[in-house]
Amino acid sequence: MSCPRIEVDLGKIRRNTQTIVGRLGPRGIGVTGVTKAVCGHPAIAQAMLDGGALGLADARTSNVQRLRKAGLTCPVTLIRTPMLSQADQVVQSCEESYNTEILLISALAAAAIRIGTVHGIVLMVEMGDQRDGILPENLAGIAQQVMKMSGVALKGIGANFACLSGLAPTVLQMAAFCDLADEIEGVCGPFLKIVSGGNSANLPWALGEHATGRVNDLRLGEAILLGVEPVSGDRIDGMHTDAFTLVAEVIETGAKPAPSPIALVDPTLARLRIAPASGVSKRHILAIGHQDTDILGLSMPAGSTFIGATSDHLVIGTNRSMLKLGSEVRFQMNYNALMHAMAAPDIKVKLLDNQPTKQTRRTQGMIDHLALV
Ligand SMILES: *Cc1c(COP(=O)(O)O)cnc(C)c1O
Repeated sequence: MSCPRIEVDLGKIRRNTQTIVGRLGPRGIGVTGVTKAVCGHPAIAQAMLDGGALGLADARTSNVQRLRKAGLTCPVTLIRTPMLSQADQVVQSCEESYNTEILLISALAAAAIRIGTVHGIVLMVEMGDQRDGILPENLAGIAQQVMKMSGVALKGIGANFACLSGLAPTVLQMAAFCDLADEIEGVCGPFLKIVSGGNSANLPWALGEHATGRVNDLRLGEAILLGVEPVSGDRIDGMHTDAFTLVAEVIETGAKPAPSPIALVDPTLARLRIAPASGVSKRHILAIGHQDTDILGLSMPAGSTFIGATSDHLVIGTNRSMLKLGSEVRFQMNYNALMHAMAAPDIKVKLLDNQPTKQTRRTQGMIDHLALV
């Protein structure tokens, strides 16, 4: 079988989505599935929709185009502020986009008019993450300008937390964000369809004791894909953390003498890490490296330790005597490792549990069919 590869258990992605949709639903919060970490992979996106996500979101138009080419017709939102140079692609491929710049919104409006459509605008508000966003005091003014433009329609407001700052939102910040929704409606009139509270880092808030107010949408990537809450790194109750597995092949086995001191021209070039001598008897080299993934984001299989990596090699120490030339070693990935591996040209994606969309065709004991993409 082709190596290196990522095995994706679509059933686990469907069930993770179902679980989180089921918990947020009673609180009046719908889920938008975020596909950027998997480069808009259509089957993974479809699994999110099958699990109950109301729509999809991605940061890049290239990923959205991939979804569209595969025939997905659901609403797709661009959650990174569009590039001025991509206004046409954005209105062609996305129903809505997140925006912070009025100049850009007018470019989207002009592009939408050219193709006879109306593009939805969600205004991104800066609530403390210090990445993208309109300052709260400027929001009403910009909303009013959007209201006056043809070619675009004001659909809502969005906030984002924990991406740049690493800080989860507080109850007070979320209350202030909900007040902004009321304020914008006071000024602009129409009911805001979308009040999008944030990403996976908002889950502790959204599932907490207090009221969740006006927030009716969360944009979830990591929680659905990896089953973890990003700020703490903790597994979310009842979620699968192993929907993705990276598989790499052994290309050299055997013990190596302890490295003798080498006079390095530049000590910062040293890439070698010495594994602790704790019963690890053998070194193995795998055909995967920094070019393929964030190696430090891999969790080593039981009985193995990380020794070092270069652009194309991963060296592990292991006491698993069964490993031989050509053996496969399986790793779980964190978000960074997943994101890089999904974009790596040499890594194949193998889909497991790729059931047909129609849930009615599901039968007990049916053999899951496999598909290669
Ligand atoms: C990446 C991103 C998300 C999804 O984040 P996760 O932590 O993967 O849930 C949501 N909103 C915006 C604006 C993003 O950039």
